[in-house]
Amino acid sequence: MKFDRIYVEQSILDHPRTQTILASNPKAEIIHCERYGEVFNPKSQNFRFQKRKPALIIARKEGQRILPTPPDYGLGADMHFYFSHMLNCLYDCRYCFLQGMYQSANYVLFPNYEDFIQDIDATRIKHPEKELFFFSGYDCDSLAMESLTGFTDVFLPYFEDHPKAWLELRTKSVNISHLLDRSPIENVVVAFSLNPDSIAKSLELKAPPLAARLKAAEKLAQAGWKIGLRIDPIVCVSDAKEHYNQFLDTVWQHLPSPAIHSATLGSFRSPTSVFRRMENLYPEEPLFMKGMKNQNGMVAYEPSVETDLRKSVWDGLASKLPESRIFSCS
Ligand code: SF4
Repeated sequence: MKFDRIYVEQSILDHPRTQTILASNPKAEIIHCERYGEVFNPKSQNFRFQKRKPALIIARKEGQRILPTPPDYGLGADMHFYFSHMLNCLYDCRYCFLQGMYQSANYVLFPNYEDFIQDIDATRIKHPEKELFFFSGYDCDSLAMESLTGFTDVFLPYFEDHPKAWLELRTKSVNISHLLDRSPIENVVVAFSLNPDSIAKSLELKAPPLAARLKAAEKLAQAGWKIGLRIDPIVCVSDAKEHYNQFLDTVWQHLPSPAIHSATLGSFRSPTSVFRRMENLYPEEPLFMKGMKNQNGMVAYEPSVETDLRKSVWDGLASKLPESRIFSCS
């Protein structure tokens, strides 16, 4: 992956991963900075414009690297955490909260993976009797930029050695060759974010089509990897029930129930300020925003719009999966 411009924090310049990235981008303009926030946070930036050709910012992740998930977000383990080795994403989903949350569409990569692993290890040691789940790809896609990040090369061996800690790789990518090249790991779930084809085509821009994602999931399942289905967010378009019914039929054609570790159903929810920024970025594309309600500082679908659809999709999942493997995440 090549960049025209790379910003590098002075404190991470000598890191071997930084040096590898710089060496593989000999034509890039390199700009040094003290803290990435100087480049990433200023309000005068145009997210939509930057998204056409984002720059890369390489920074050291300081502070709290591993965070507990909200109480209603989990997969049945004792404790759940999330972390992000990157901010921003190769893809351009219209419902993505990142575009409303960040001022900049530039990619931020935190290559100090050793510090993340140290914090995961400290969390694991602190809770020796507990089953822990770690979600990666909260502020990015876990696999889409693997050729740049080398994320799985570092994190998979750690989780392979610590079977009571689970890792979720959350993705829309079909970039799976590095997973197929190695043996599956019992406590790693490759979780594909999926939506009906019509919704993927209109809202999940630049992401691989549904058929390609399902094919990738199928190949991984055949190789023995555990697969997660992440229907998140569910999108209330016209005739949504029919779209989701057909979509689930297609999913079952590719993935037999035993290959599926878990399925989650997520709802679109956003702080009002973040939602307003998303609206302002793409005023001409109100598709998924129909039927939303602003209440107590949060924007979400009206219950009358969403509840019926959620039940229908839940029932569709439950027709093939035990309900103990289906989770509702907001
Ligand atoms: S794949 Fe996920 S992180 Fe990337 S743009 Fe879409 S919603 Fe955002």
